[in-house]
Amino acid sequence: MDSALSKVNRVVQRPGAVARRVDEIAFHRALLAVISEIVHTVDLHTPSFAWAGPVMVEILGWTPAQIEAMGADIRFIAYHHDDLARIRAADESVPGLRDGQVLETRFRLRHVDGHYRWVARRLTPLRRSVSGAVTHAMAATRDVSDAVRLDERLTRAALHDPLTGLPSRALLLDRLATALQRRSRSGGVVPVLFCNLDGFKRVNDTSGHRAGDEVLVATAERLRRALRPQDTVARVGGDEFVIVVESSQLRAVDRDAPPGSPGAPVESIRGDLHSETLGIIARLIEAVSEPVSVHDDSEGVTAHTVSVSIGVSFAARGNDPEEVIRQADSAMYRAKASGQGRYQVFDGSFRAEVVERGHIEQSLRAALAPDLPTPDAGVPQAAFSVMYQPMFDLSTMEITGVEGLARLTDAYGVALPPDQFIPVAEETGLIARLGRAVLETACHDLADWHGRFSAWRELGLAVNLSARQVGLIDLVSDVRGALRRSGLAPAQLTLEIAESVLLDADHSTISALTELQLDGVRMSLDDFGTGSASLRYLARVPVGTVKVDRSFTAGMPADPACVAIVRAVAALSRELGMACVVEGIETAAQLEALPEGVQGQGFLLGRPLVASRFGEFLSRYPVAAQRQASPAVSQGASG
Ligand code: C2E
Ligand code: MG
Ligand code: MG
Repeated sequence: MDSALSKVNRVVQRPGAVARRVDEIAFHRALLAVISEIVHTVDLHTPSFAWAGPVMVEILGWTPAQIEAMGADIRFIAYHHDDLARIRAADESVPGLRDGQVLETRFRLRHVDGHYRWVARRLTPLRRSVSGAVTHAMAATRDVSDAVRLDERLTRAALHDPLTGLPSRALLLDRLATALQRRSRSGGVVPVLFCNLDGFKRVNDTSGHRAGDEVLVATAERLRRALRPQDTVARVGGDEFVIVVESSQLRAVDRDAPPGSPGAPVESIRGDLHSETLGIIARLIEAVSEPVSVHDDSEGVTAHTVSVSIGVSFAARGNDPEEVIRQADSAMYRAKASGQGRYQVFDGSFRAEVVERGHIEQSLRAALAPDLPTPDAGVPQAAFSVMYQPMFDLSTMEITGVEGLARLTDAYGVALPPDQFIPVAEETGLIARLGRAVLETACHDLADWHGRFSAWRELGLAVNLSARQVGLIDLVSDVRGALRRSGLAPAQLTLEIAESVLLDADHSTISALTELQLDGVRMSLDDFGTGSASLRYLARVPVGTVKVDRSFTAGMPADPACVAIVRAVAALSRELGMACVVEGIETAAQLEALPEGVQGQGFLLGRPLVASRFGEFLSRYPVAAQRQASPAVSQGASG
């Protein structure tokens, strides 16, 4: 029972230098036992360990004897190969340290059972030669594995999407920047694909969010499998993925190369695009369009089919990664606009449009901003308004209704065409505010005319509804609110729904429209014949009116196909008990070529007018043509 400590204690009793020395040894041994670091000295010449404490056994499982036996070879036995250079660099900088100065290095040490643990080693000069150079260092090494693991997890969380495990936007930008740096020497081009799922919202709406998540996870996996391991797939938004095709063999674009030569612009990209990028795009589109079986909210299994729209841009040396992704994004919108499961390449030709889009967006925001401070007199400002165009019964020339059309002018007073600002409003989500503004303004104006012109008390109003708008706003409450505030009857309002809206229509869209229809609000199918919606959509949504797209009218009367189509649609709608409005009537010849019984709208009959001018138009319109014409109609002549 004569323990080492009691031996030491007995020695300590003795006076003199030996006692002090033994005292020191006991002190150090106790110190080593209580602290949680591996404490040792390093001989900088060999460099070898000496004096490793008992914690060494606890943390790494090696015994002091084993460590001693390793000698200088400890570097090859216990150090992680990847950390050797870092450790050597740290060791080499020790001679330059001042006394008391500490150098910390993190590296991995191998546990006796083979796994590695992260440690942080603090080194400080211990002994110097006569010339003053450090010959030995004192080191304390602690186990930081838990902290490193937590760190890694946090970094991973920041750089990866928790649902799919795919890289996040931050990591994507980093990878793209690295890929571009690598290409700067080889002169290669990196294709960047912006992918957005079509029909994803429908999954969420019909089967719940868990099912939506399952579709995203399955899609992520399919995208990854359709690519090579070097390529990066990142999730950058709800149903948006960006792919960096790092494995691409595309060559650089040499702007000065003569056309047709190997480095020539466009042609070389186009040529390679077909053989390489097109192949990838085709694989992606096919992989995604396979049905996915998911668990819905009621624990049943439902198969959903989504598709992917892809925008492509090509990144080359010197490009800004963010800008390249923006370009691919805008190309994706074009792809989506042209249908589902399509792709579109960004090229210089619509670079100008991207700038233009920014301008349009800015104008929209300014024009629709609520409670903007009144601008100083004379300072131009972007403005929103509504114009009104009448529709007529062509046999009686009665006005059957008026369509409200959104208008936007920029800060320079330039009118921006709806065909441009509506898509931008849809892409940015501003369509919700725009739609609400049109509804409020138009209902208010119509109520004003109802009040001023008794002959027009029955006049109905039509406003346009966009696909995104239906998904974004609480359509039902917005419509009811606008009707209540203006005092209009629901039957005096018609929502014009473009064919494309119906194509995208999910369960919630249909139910919102049905709810409004039950209120008495009317629906009409706009731009009929332009989308690929089939006639069965007429049965899906409670539509009372079909508006034949003006592209058919434009072909009349010269193009017999256009004439035949308009006739057929007129007959079909009569058959289904619906009204038929032919849009875009510009000439008398077109008017004459129209079938019996249709209504008409167009520049020949009446252009869109600002509210005050439309009021004047109503006040002058021959009341005799109107049902139960009232003599009071002229009272608004000046308004
Ligand atoms: P739309 O609903 O089919 O509206 C009719 C369009 O045809 C209007 O163009 C109108 O000015 C134009 N038009 C009328 N008669 C003629 C004609 O005889 N010849 C020709 N060439 N055009 C004629 P606009 O105002 O430029 O609007 C274009 C489209 O923008 C609209 O087509 C509609 O889809 C959309 N839009 C307009 N206002 C709104 C709105 O408030 N909300 C939404 N979501 N879309 C709107
Ligand atoms: Mg319309
Ligand atoms: Mg139309």
